[in-house]
Amino acid sequence: MKIMRHDQTALCSYCRLPWEELTPVAAADPELRFDEYSVEGEPVCCTAAVAEFRSERGTTAGIRKSVKAEQTDLGWRVRWQEGRLLRARSFGTQQGADKFVQYLRQGGVA
Ligand SMILES: [Zn+2]
Repeated sequence: MKIMRHDQTALCSYCRLPWEELTPVAAADPELRFDEYSVEGEPVCCTAAVAEFRSERGTTAGIRKSVKAEQTDLGWRVRWQEGRLLRARSFGTQQGADKFVQYLRQGGVA
């Protein structure tokens, strides 16, 4: 979320970058927007801020897809797609991986 510093600079509470929002023009530009679900006023700094903005509007469209756990040679791996990014995290046990899958599906910040 947007937070104000004492010098009146607005920062993102998740990534600490300066707060910026999509203008109507940027929201229509595939190069500038997060994805095709972006709308005017959406923050641009990080996935967590975008996810929060969308969940406040009752949608998780485009934020997180294909969350799944799979076994690897070394343990367990959770893979998911977040916006345009493919992400993964390793776990030692299936239980740990399953818990994380639940957490992500409930909208947890990763
Ligand atoms: Zn941010």
